[in-house]
Amino acid sequence: MMFAPRLEIDLGKIQHNTRTLVERLAGRGISVTGVTKATLGSPEIAHAMLLAGVNDLGDSRIENIEAMRSSNVSARMSLIRSPMLSQAKRVVTSADMSFNSELEVIRRLSLEAGKLDRTHAVVLMVELGDLREGIMPVDLMAAVSEILNLPNIILKGLGTNLACRSGVSPDDANMSELSRLAALTEATFDISIEIVSGGNSANLEWVFSSEHTGRVNNLRLGESILLGCETLHRNAIDGLHTDAITLIAEVIESKVKPSRPTGELVQNAFGTCPAVADRGAITQSILAIGVQDIDLCGLQPPEGTEILSGSSDHLLVTSSFDGAAVGGEMKFQLNYSALLRAMTSPFVTKSFKSAIDVSSLRQIA
Ligand SMILES: *Cc1c(COP(=O)(O)O)cnc(C)c1O
Repeated sequence: MMFAPRLEIDLGKIQHNTRTLVERLAGRGISVTGVTKATLGSPEIAHAMLLAGVNDLGDSRIENIEAMRSSNVSARMSLIRSPMLSQAKRVVTSADMSFNSELEVIRRLSLEAGKLDRTHAVVLMVELGDLREGIMPVDLMAAVSEILNLPNIILKGLGTNLACRSGVSPDDANMSELSRLAALTEATFDISIEIVSGGNSANLEWVFSSEHTGRVNNLRLGESILLGCETLHRNAIDGLHTDAITLIAEVIESKVKPSRPTGELVQNAFGTCPAVADRGAITQSILAIGVQDIDLCGLQPPEGTEILSGSSDHLLVTSSFDGAAVGGEMKFQLNYSALLRAMTSPFVTKSFKSAIDVSSLRQIA
């Protein structure tokens, strides 16, 4: 019995993508943190990443980390979004490390870790131009000075995140600034900075083209592992699978209808009034999936099929494809935004295929 809609997730391909990236980056002295946030903390995908050699796992939501812990995923896990003050206790309970940019939060983590009689590691995020999270470089030494005096907190490293909010490209200039700050921290406080986490999948182009990766020794990778592309231009990465995850939806209506609506046009369900060109009668099919489950703009339909529109629960396409009959299934490629929404929709079944490569099971046994 096949459920629809469903994501077909090929764990063998995810493992291949992960291993390829881990090996290429190891050649540059860089470890990989496998980022699971787009998978709702899927233990299957986490496991595939771990078998393929990621150093540790990172997720932006403590709920996902808790879910992986209770599914017995055994790995070092980091919360890669700055913790909420209100979740400090859960963070020190379930995450080994967190990425931080507010002293107030780190003080609270220190307090909660003390109550539980454990230590919590932190990576300090530095603002290097993208204007998302991060301490301003001029404030870094003061922050480090205070953190080094906090009980139950270990300063593990420095990190930065680019190409997210503003699309600032990682380059020799901002990456060498991160290296410089790591060296300055070490020299100022006579400590060693173990992790210098340079960024996400948007850093890959820089890593493979730069002569100067400097102190950067870690990247946090999600999209490149899952979708096989880098994220500055969304180019496929050589040797990686771009179809490890596909979406299948089922047709619930298929009829020849006019291409233009009849009657006075006002707002649709989402408050917009889409312009529709008249191209005569077309075969229109409705699939049982909607914007509650996917980002319509992030779907790539099969050859010969065109996406017309969508609503909360419907996706409308026109197709010359045989699968457009009622009960038929249609397969779509997804971008990150569509993947994220489908993965986190309770209405989309996750169907795992392809067993994990057994040779790697033996390797870690
Ligand atoms: C999401 C995220 C990542 C991973 O980004 P990808 O583009 O999926 O590789 C890395 N670091 C942080 C802080 C993130 O929020």
